[in-house]
Amino acid sequence: MRIIRVRRGERSFYAAITGPNSVRCLNAEENLPDDIPLEELELLPLVRPTKIVCVGLNYHDHAREMGLPIPEEPVLFLKPPTAVIGTGEAIVAPAGAGRVDYEAELAVVIGHPARCVTEADALSHVFGYACANDVTARDLQKKDGQWTRAKSFDTFCPVGPWIETHLEDPQSLGVRAIVNGEARQSGTTADMIFPVPKLISFISGVMTLLPGDVILTGTPAGIGPIKDGDEVGIEIDQLGLLSNRVVAGGPTVAAEVQ
Ligand code: MG
Repeated sequence: MRIIRVRRGERSFYAAITGPNSVRCLNAEENLPDDIPLEELELLPLVRPTKIVCVGLNYHDHAREMGLPIPEEPVLFLKPPTAVIGTGEAIVAPAGAGRVDYEAELAVVIGHPARCVTEADALSHVFGYACANDVTARDLQKKDGQWTRAKSFDTFCPVGPWIETHLEDPQSLGVRAIVNGEARQSGTTADMIFPVPKLISFISGVMTLLPGDVILTGTPAGIGPIKDGDEVGIEIDQLGLLSNRVVAGGPTVAAEVQ
């Protein structure tokens, strides 16, 4: 089932895609007809996580292109929930932030609380999967020496275009980044150093994962910069195309404070 989050008038709810231009409300209390035309709805960001847990350097080909050793255990960092946007929304590149990069990633959305779960049990805690873009201010990442500022600007976590709740095998998916129609990344989740069950088990041993939380599972080789006016697509087999335009933003929050 493909699921999106929408607003209709004053009400917001999750809905299942039933056709090219229609959805079915998944909240029975709304008492809506079975098929609602998409033009009556406003698309909302798919997820409202308490946290977005990201994995650095999780593809063999990306580690090779960076000239870095294969990590012995997953390298974790966080993005804030305020970074999430949906498909069609703009990625704002802050003025003064320097180089901003795309990173095509498989997003895992948690469905049931997960604390210290085993790898064997891990996938039973998953609600679904989506495309994501781990947008990164690369110059600030190097300058700061740790990644919080570089990864956390508003709009730096596009997720979409829908959540797919049924996936036979999350480790056999093509992952692509497309900038202005040109392929820039083309990898496969089979190349992950730590597969999805290992990541869920490892992360849940550190922090409790709650429904709606998102794991970004790392990016394959081919990362690169984006700039004002670029159209960035993240495409994953069976998960559709997440599409966002880049716009130049105003001064950074830090600059405004000074
Ligand atoms: Mg990343």
